Amino acid sequence: MPQSTRKILLPAMTPGGGRSLTVHRFGRAGARPKAYLQAAIHANELPGVMVLHHLLPMLVKADRKGRIKGEIVIVPAVNPIGFAQLVGHTHLGRYDFLGRDNFNRNWLDLSAEVARRTGAKLGRKAADNVAMIRTAALAALAAMKPVNELQTLRVEAMKLSIDADVVLDLHCDAHSSLHLFISAHDWPGAARVLAADIRAEATLYNEPYPASLTFSGVNSALWPRLAELFPAARIPQACLSATIEYRGQHDVNHALGEADARNLYRTLVRRGAIAGRAGALPRLKAQATPIGGMDVGYCPKPGMLIYHLPPGARARKGDAVCEVIDPYDPRGPKARTQIFARTDGILFSRKLDGRLTWPGAVAYRIAGAKRLAHRKGMSGLDD
Ligand SMILES: [Zn+2]
Repeated sequence: MPQSTRKILLPAMTPGGGRSLTVHRFGRAGARPKAYLQAAIHANELPGVMVLHHLLPMLVKADRKGRIKGEIVIVPAVNPIGFAQLVGHTHLGRYDFLGRDNFNRNWLDLSAEVARRTGAKLGRKAADNVAMIRTAALAALAAMKPVNELQTLRVEAMKLSIDADVVLDLHCDAHSSLHLFISAHDWPGAARVLAADIRAEATLYNEPYPASLTFSGVNSALWPRLAELFPAARIPQACLSATIEYRGQHDVNHALGEADARNLYRTLVRRGAIAGRAGALPRLKAQATPIGGMDVGYCPKPGMLIYHLPPGARARKGDAVCEVIDPYDPRGPKARTQIFARTDGILFSRKLDGRLTWPGAVAYRIAGAKRLAHRKGMSGLDD
C-alpha cells in the first residue's frame, strides 16, 4: 500500500481555535514489524524534526520501490499545542500552559485496564498473548473520551504507538551529546543494536523498566507491568520503546539531520521494516549504564552558570563540572561556587554557558556505571 497522510483534529480550546496532528503511514496496516516514530513532544526540540525531515523522503523513495515490508508510522512534529507557545518573540515549549504539565509526563499507563480485559485469557503462548494485549490496549484507548486538547493528543498518539514493535520518541537536551533512554529489559538485545546503529554516546537504562509516565516509558512498561501481574503467563517485552536525545537544541543542520536519518533508516532495515541490507553493525560507542548511576548536578544558589567541561566529556569524581557566579559579589573567584562530579562517567547533558540559574535547577547529568547512594529511588526526571 502506498504512503498515506492523514490529519487528526484536536478539539479547539478557544473559539476559532483548533489544531491537528499530521501522520504519515508507509506499508500495509497490520504488517510487521511496525515502527512508530515521533518528534518534538517538548515542542522546542527541533533536532528530531530535522531527522524526520530527512528520513521521510528516504521512506517515500523506499515505498515507491516497494521496499517497505512492515508498517512505519511517522508523526514529524507531535505537539502543535507546544508549537503555538510564542511569547514575547520567544518559543517556549516543554510545559503545557493550561495545566502546567510537562508535555512528556502523565502519558497513559494502560496496564490495569489491559489486565482487566485480558487477565484470565493470558496463557503460555507468547505470540497469542502479544496479540491479545495489543488488541486490548487499542480497545482501551478507543473507549477513552478525552475532553481537552492535550488529553486528546495523548490518546491519539498512543493509538498510533501502543501496538508497535519499535517506538522511537525523538527529543533533544539543552547542550548535549546524542544519548538514549531505554528499559533494562531491552539491554543488550534490541536496544544495543539501536544504540550502535544511531551512534549513541551514552545509553541509560531504567531498572527494571521506565516507571515514569513518559511517552516511551508507557509504551515500554506495558509489557513488564503485565508480566508482573500475571507471572504464570508468558508475556515478552514485545516493544522496544526508547527516547532518543538528538544532542542539544541548537544542533539542527542538514548534515546532522541527514546522517542521523540514514542511521535510523539502517536500523529500520536491520529490524526488517524495510527490505535491503543493513550491513555490519557499527561499533558500540558506549556501554549502557543504569539510571541509578546517573549523577545529577543541582545548582545550590541563584546566579550565572558557567561550565568547565564540554558535552560528551569524560568527567571524574571530584572534577568541577561548572560554577554558579553571584553577580553581586565583588570578590572575583570567591563569587564562584563550584559544582563537583560525584561519579566517573560521560557528561552527556548540560546547559549553555552564561544562563541564569536558581537553587535546585539541574545543571548537568553524568552517565556513570556505578549505582550511586545519593540517587537511590530517584527517577532522574526532575525538570
Ligand atoms: Zn524532550
